Amino acid sequence: MTSPLPVLVMKFGGTSILGPQGMGRVAEILAPGGPSTVAVVSAMAGTTDVLLHGVRSASTGGSGLAAAAGAVRQDHLRVAGVLLGRREMDSFAAHLDYVISGYLAKGALPTAANPAGGCSLEAAASAGELLSAALLAAVLRERGVAAVAVDSADLLITDGHPRAALPLVAESRERVRGRLLPLLQAGTLPVVTGFRAGTAAGEVTTLGRGGSDHSATLLGALLPAAEVWIWTDVDGLLTADPRLVADARLLPEVSYSEAMELSYFGAKVLHRSAVPPAASAAIPIRIKNTMRPQGPGTVIEGRPPGPGGARAVTLVEEACLMTLTASPGAGLNRLAAEVFDDFADARITTLLVTQSSAEDVVCVAIPRVELAAATEALRRTRHLSAQDVQDQVSVVVVVGEAMRGTAGIAGKMFGALGKQGINVIAISQGSSELAVAAVVQRRDVGDAVRALHRVFGLGGSGGSRDAPLRS
Ligand code: ADP
Ligand code: ASP
Ligand code: MG
Repeated sequence: MTSPLPVLVMKFGGTSILGPQGMGRVAEILAPGGPSTVAVVSAMAGTTDVLLHGVRSASTGGSGLAAAAGAVRQDHLRVAGVLLGRREMDSFAAHLDYVISGYLAKGALPTAANPAGGCSLEAAASAGELLSAALLAAVLRERGVAAVAVDSADLLITDGHPRAALPLVAESRERVRGRLLPLLQAGTLPVVTGFRAGTAAGEVTTLGRGGSDHSATLLGALLPAAEVWIWTDVDGLLTADPRLVADARLLPEVSYSEAMELSYFGAKVLHRSAVPPAASAAIPIRIKNTMRPQGPGTVIEGRPPGPGGARAVTLVEEACLMTLTASPGAGLNRLAAEVFDDFADARITTLLVTQSSAEDVVCVAIPRVELAAATEALRRTRHLSAQDVQDQVSVVVVVGEAMRGTAGIAGKMFGALGKQGINVIAISQGSSELAVAAVVQRRDVGDAVRALHRVFGLGGSGGSRDAPLRS
């Protein structure tokens, strides 16, 4: 079946669909119709955290799961109560009970007595998306739009890796097209759960925290869509996280490579795996603010670099730096080969690598959430004699495609950090010169980001955020 063109994938983040106001606003954005649209939704903001907390509590014998299920139930009923009429309300309430009893009932999840559980952690963690998708579809029907909720666990097939599942493209394409194209042909708007995926054997997996952006670009690439729009709580990709930098400015156009670097190095507005599916299918990604739908947003596409220089500053706030020493006589190459082989098997995210050949030492910065997995992976590294971990560090990164060939970027960067009295623990610049990264103490990271934003002249008016700024 061919795509009814043009197909538009529109993803709405957790804050965008929060509460009756948010959910109503999103329904307004979707209701006018236009091109065939596929909506993708995250769970309402906070739901995934509540669910994970409940599941962890249950796994240690606590009673947090029942409380989590109760809170999630109430949050959704409150929104449904405001936005749905009698008929849709009854059917949503039945779905809510089904999801809560199926995914969150006591005993169905891993507990101290039954560690295997009956339902995986990932299935329970992504139950929020089953609820938000059903609720948004009901709100749209209430407003006269033919809409139906679709569970992506049946569409996006992964290899089931417990911490970092990778999508299987061929298997997923068939299912995505087989399920979504007939709906679009019939004029029905599919509201697809973000974050959730499944194995070929039917187990629920996820695409990782924040993974709904990835769900959207995967669906976009598989359909294929003309564009993927990521609706969120900021005006677009900005020159820095506006929570840290008050005068962060909107970037109207960003290249795929720049967006990949920014998201890989912590710009939360886009999940770090979201860009590649769109880039390889040459599908533009737009980032837009649900509060200001008329705003221009950011468009991410293949574009030649603009005038020279840095374009944005980003950070991985919670990182750690592992200093790994080779056993005597093994040499740096053998240690590095083994470490990266073991890290590749465990799918560890390498943020930065440096080495000292005199001491046969390799230094690797990784996100702190991956420390336990990395430590476990290193148990297999045969030629490792010692490891030291600094776990209170951050990685700050200056990104810009046009930095390539521009002299003095690194000098300016380290000069600015030095002037602030910020000690740089490690540095790296790839030969592509797309990003220059530095490891600093975590306590210095806010000042470091602001100093770099200033020295590269990135500030100005244009971007803004609707929530209060963090100090
Ligand atoms: P959603 O719930 O819509 O998925 P997220 O919270 O995951 O939204 O991502 C949006 C947040 O990303 C913004 O509120 C902002 O604080 C943060 N962010 C970090 N870096 C950037 C950046 N360079 N540009 C825009 N937003 C950024
Ligand atoms: N709900 C999931 C999370 O909180 C996925 C997402 O928001 O993209 O991580
Ligand atoms: Mg997000």
